[in-house]
Order: sequence, then C-alpha cells, then structure tokens
Amino acid sequence: MAENKAQNKAASPVSPVYDSLIVGAGISGLAAAIKLRKEGYTDFKIIEKASQVGGTWRENTYPGCGCDVPSSLYSYSFALSSKWSRLFAKQPEILAYLKEVSDDFGITPLIEFNTDLEQARWDDSRDLWVLNTSKGEYLARTVVFATGPITESQIPSLPGLETFKGEMFHSAKWNHDYDLTGKRVAVIGTGASAIQFVPEIQPRVKELFVFQRTAPWVLPKPDLPLSETSKSVIERLPAIQHGWRKAVAGSLNVINFGLRNPNVLKPVSSAARQLLRLQVDDPVLRKAVTPDFTLGCKRILFANNYYPALQAENTSLIPHGLVEVDGNTVIAANGERHEVDVIIWGTGFDVSHPPIGRKVFNAKGERLSDLWKDSSPEAYLGAALADVPNAFLVLGPNVLVYDSFIVLAEAQLDYIIDGLKKIRDRGISRLTIRPSVIEQHNQKVQKHLKGTVFNSGGCKSYYLDQNGRNFAAWPWSLKALKKRLSRFRLKDYEVVYQQQKANRKAA
Ligand SMILES: Cc1cc2nc3c(=O)[nH]c(=O)nc-3n(C[C@H](O)[C@H](O)[C@H](O)COP(=O)(O)OP(=O)(O)OC[C@H]3O[C@@H](n4cnc5c(N)ncnc54)[C@H](O)[C@@H]3O)c2cc1C
Repeated sequence: MAENKAQNKAASPVSPVYDSLIVGAGISGLAAAIKLRKEGYTDFKIIEKASQVGGTWRENTYPGCGCDVPSSLYSYSFALSSKWSRLFAKQPEILAYLKEVSDDFGITPLIEFNTDLEQARWDDSRDLWVLNTSKGEYLARTVVFATGPITESQIPSLPGLETFKGEMFHSAKWNHDYDLTGKRVAVIGTGASAIQFVPEIQPRVKELFVFQRTAPWVLPKPDLPLSETSKSVIERLPAIQHGWRKAVAGSLNVINFGLRNPNVLKPVSSAARQLLRLQVDDPVLRKAVTPDFTLGCKRILFANNYYPALQAENTSLIPHGLVEVDGNTVIAANGERHEVDVIIWGTGFDVSHPPIGRKVFNAKGERLSDLWKDSSPEAYLGAALADVPNAFLVLGPNVLVYDSFIVLAEAQLDYIIDGLKKIRDRGISRLTIRPSVIEQHNQKVQKHLKGTVFNSGGCKSYYLDQNGRNFAAWPWSLKALKKRLSRFRLKDYEVVYQQQKANRKAA
C-alpha cells in the first residue's frame, strides 16, 4: 500500500492521493471518520463547506428545535452521553454533543473547513476521484458522500410573493436578528419544524396565522427534564444507559411494525383522536386539526405544547394552504386574507433531489442530478450508485425506517467501510455496483412498499417523489436492514483488481 501511495503521489505532484475523502462533517461524516480510524485508516480527510461540524444541527437553529427521537437513541452507539438535560435534547445540546465527539475522537484536526465541494469526477485513467473544491483540488481512491438527506429548504413560488415588503425566512435559516415581538406573523406549514417553533413564538407575537394544508398526527411527547442526580446515576451506571437505549429501540420497532401493518396502529389512532377531544375544546378547531390520512403515512410528530399554542387568543389556524401574496396581505386557498409583517416558511425540504447530485459526475461523465431530473435517485441499500465506482452515499434512498437517523447512518457505514476495506486490502482499483443488483433490489423494495402505510395511507408525504414513487422508505424492519448491511458481498459488484489493470496495460 505504501508503494502504491508513493506511485500515486509521484503521479500527481500537486495534490496527494488520499485513501479516502469524506464529504460533510455532520452526524454521518463524523461517524464515517471515527469508524475509518477504528479500522486503521490514517490517510483521509473530511471536506466540510461550513466553518464547524454539525450539519443539520448547525443549520437549524429555530426556537424549540430539537430531536423527536429520544436522545438515548439519537446519539452514537460508541459515544453515549450522560449529559442530556432532557429525554429529547434540543438543538444547542445536540450541536455541542457533536462538537465534543469530534474533538474527543480526534476528528476535528482532520476536517478541512470552509471547503465546498464543487465537482467530483471519477478519473478513469487513474482510477481515482478528483474533487474540485472552493479551496482547490483533492484526489482520493475512495469517497464517502455524507452530505445529508434533509438540507435543501423549500419555499413555494407563489403569485405576488415578490410584492411582499415584510420580513421572510425559512425555519432552516431562522433570522435571529429579527425581533418577532408584537409582530403579525404568518407561519406556512404544520410539519415537524413548525410544530416545534409555533409554541415558542406564539407568546411573543401580536397575531399568529398558521396556514395548514394537511393536519398532521401530533401525539404527546414523552419528554422530561433530567435532574443532576439522574444524570450522575446514568454516568455511574452505564448499564442504565444501554438498557434505556434498548428499550427506546424496542418501542420504535413496535411503531415500525405498525407502519408495515397499518391495522396494528388502529388502536393508536383511536386513542389519538380521543386525546384530541381532551386537548382541543373548540369542535371547529378540533375538526380542522384532525388528520384525514392513516397514522404513519407522514412522519408521526410528537409535541405537548402545539395544540395549546393553536388555541391561544392570538392564534388563528387557517386550514388551507397559502396561495397568493399581495403586498403584505397573505391569501389562503379559501380566499381568506390577512395582513402580516412576517412570513415564516415551515415548508420543509426538497429531499427527492439531493443537492450532492449536482456536484457528482459518474464514470460515464454524466451529472447525477441530470439523471435524477425526472425521478428521484435509486441506489443499492441507500449507499451504492450505478456507475459511481469506489464511492458511497450515506443516508441515500430507501433506507428510512422510523428510528434514529444516527442508528441508520451507523448501520450503513459499517457496510460502506467494509467495502472500503475490501478495496484497500484486496488491491482493488475499481469497484462498481452491478446494474442488475440495483435493479432487482429496487424492484423488490417498490413491490414491498405497496402495502405499507407510506404508499397507501392516503397522504402526500415527502417519501414520495413527483411521480408518486416512494424513494425514501425501507419496506422491512430495521433488523432486516441491519442484516443486509452487515455483510458487504463482493459478488454484488463489478471488480477490477490493480494487478488486472497493470497486466492489461502491459499487454
Ligand atoms: C430540523 C430537523 C430535525 C431533525 N430531527 C431529527 C430527529 O429528531 N431524529 C432523526 O433521526 N433525524 C432527524 N433529522 C434528520 C437529520 O437530518 C439526520 O438525523 C442527521 O442529522 C443527518 O446527518 P448527516 O450528517 O447525514 O447530514 P447533515 O447533518 O445534513 O450534514 C451534512 C454535512 O455535509 C456538508 N456538505 C453538504 N454539501 C457539501 C459540499 N458540497 N461540500 C462540503 N460539505 C458539504 C454540510 O455542510 C453538512 O455539514 C432532522 C432533520 C431536520 C432538518
């Protein structure tokens, strides 16, 4: 290996050739680096466009932002924390945790911050990746794209939007310099972010208009603060931490089973409807916030303060989408008009067109986003892409299980790093997923998704692309996903060995 490296470095006097480059220093990129280190890799870097780690938890700073999976599971298996101040941590704590993990595991010095990947191209003649970044060229034999599944905030283009003279921002780009106190505010959307920030801003604003196109299922959040005593007990008795993590994982497995077998969740929906009766007095408002699709079709939301905020004196729920803006007047689909000072977009993210597709070119020289233009991406186990050799994507298509994304990323990274090790240890110069493997895998995935609540629950969720194809969910259990990811089968890949290539050149 040392010899190879010397050869490669000589071949490219300008840039060294790394064993591996990781793009992105969010949860997935940091885990990739820690796991690579554990496998003895020393010759790799992380390229990160921002000036600090954290990804999602660096970008999303809206009031009330936090995880909706208990922190005992929304944390790395190799870095459990006894510091969480509550069962479901808020964004500042999650960000601090990620910074601490990055420092403690010695990853921070390996990160090239403020380095934006502009283009990644596979160089067929040298069997390596050429990454052009805002800070110059990087070369590597392998690449892990850990650029994030939920990053591209979306704002609808509406007639008259350009005539709005007030303040306007998306929840993922919260303007903390703008004081909402005493302002008339329109919140557009009632998804996972909006149900977290609506209760936080409601007491401060003069009037709050919440535009709701679809009423989400909002279940009580079993959240509690953790006292100093509890934290020190957890710290001293790691078995409690492990046991709690297992218990949370077990309860999410039950939810997942329900999502695959919707009848199982019927009693939960009935209970949720009963609860709604207790939580919302006004029958008109209650009807408006009662979901009209099967529980689980969209991501289930958890909050204890959302319905109280909707019932506050200064809040009006508008059970319609926003369709037009006329100066400072926002106009709902039913024609209702309100004058506001601020529009806050809680309209979520475009997840079916991952931005990394615009940066990566496959071995045929095609830009991935051009291939994904008319449909969403397809991959093998959410990681291996057609015609993209020696590179893997973390949290790619069809691996979403109702669980912690950290658990999913870790499982995928075990698979990916197994693949990288095979490349390194077996003298492989090029490893590409077989097209037939991707095709058969995705046919099966799509067939099994048909019966799930995601496809047949009567909602339009972000799991479905513009053609109605479910590009996000994994149709089976987490256990099944982990099993598939536990072994990297070389026979699923077309493999060219360094020796073969050398022989071909010599001939
Ligand atoms: C508001 C919000 C709340 C969420 N809550 C939960 C939750 O409760 N539970 C859960 O399981 N999941 C949740 N998620 C999903 C969340 O995205 C994942 O849990 C996780 O943070 C993904 O981590 P990641 O490292 O894969 O991606 P990201 O966190 O998106 O990190 C990607 C990194 O790549 C960098 N990058 C991207 N492009 C480039 C480029 N061209 N060049 C260089 N660097 C680049 C980015 O700057 C970023 O740092 C939430 C998502 C959002 C948006």
